[in-house]
Amino acid sequence: MSQQKKEKSKIADHRHCVVCGRAISPDEQVCSPDCREKLELSKEKEKKSRRMMLIIYVVMIIMLILFFLFRPAS
Ligand SMILES: [Zn+2]
Repeated sequence: MSQQKKEKSKIADHRHCVVCGRAISPDEQVCSPDCREKLELSKEKEKKSRRMMLIIYVVMIIMLILFFLFRPAS
């Protein structure tokens, strides 16, 4: 039961390519220029979708404020 803690330190000296999952050296992030390109592309996509989320969030808050401002007083 207590052996699970020991296995964690074993994995420390290698990484996996964040794109295709191949084993690589610890100071690299991807295994090839091809994977680097894919990583940059997905990062760009993530940045764009995060901005979209922010815009949607702001619009929703503005709509909520407008809704409460123009709600007929009861
Ligand atoms: Zn790769």
